[in-house]
Amino acid sequence: MSYRTYTANMHGTADPGCKNENVSPTPAQQARAARIAAQIAGDLAQAGFILPGTLTERMTRCGRANCRCHADPPRLHGPYHQWTRKVGGKTVTRILTDDQLADYQPWFDRQRRLRDLIAQLETLSQEIADQDPRWDR
Ligand SMILES: [Zn+2]
Repeated sequence: MSYRTYTANMHGTADPGCKNENVSPTPAQQARAARIAAQIAGDLAQAGFILPGTLTERMTRCGRANCRCHADPPRLHGPYHQWTRKVGGKTVTRILTDDQLADYQPWFDRQRRLRDLIAQLETLSQEIADQDPRWDR
């Protein structure tokens, strides 16, 4: 019974008499794309900079054997603001001072927000492209 229903649905989807044969985002999908695009445009319209890579807080040990960071229990150095990014396939790491972090934090935040919005738009576009009936031809 349920198998028959499933089969009928499959045939209904692939119905060759269907006239709707182009990529056709639903009104809801179009509205969502417009919302995301407006947010991206709003972000880009503001004068501002973006920095690539990721920021992490790191605790470290130094090379001095009698330092507190080698004690038991150890008291590590830091936290340090570590900026990691890829340059020509290689990972480049820099340590930011507190005032550098204060200056650059908005640049990293902005990059993350834009990347997240682009990712949302990509996911939505992928969903729409996946529903394109011409894949079945
Ligand atoms: Zn140390």
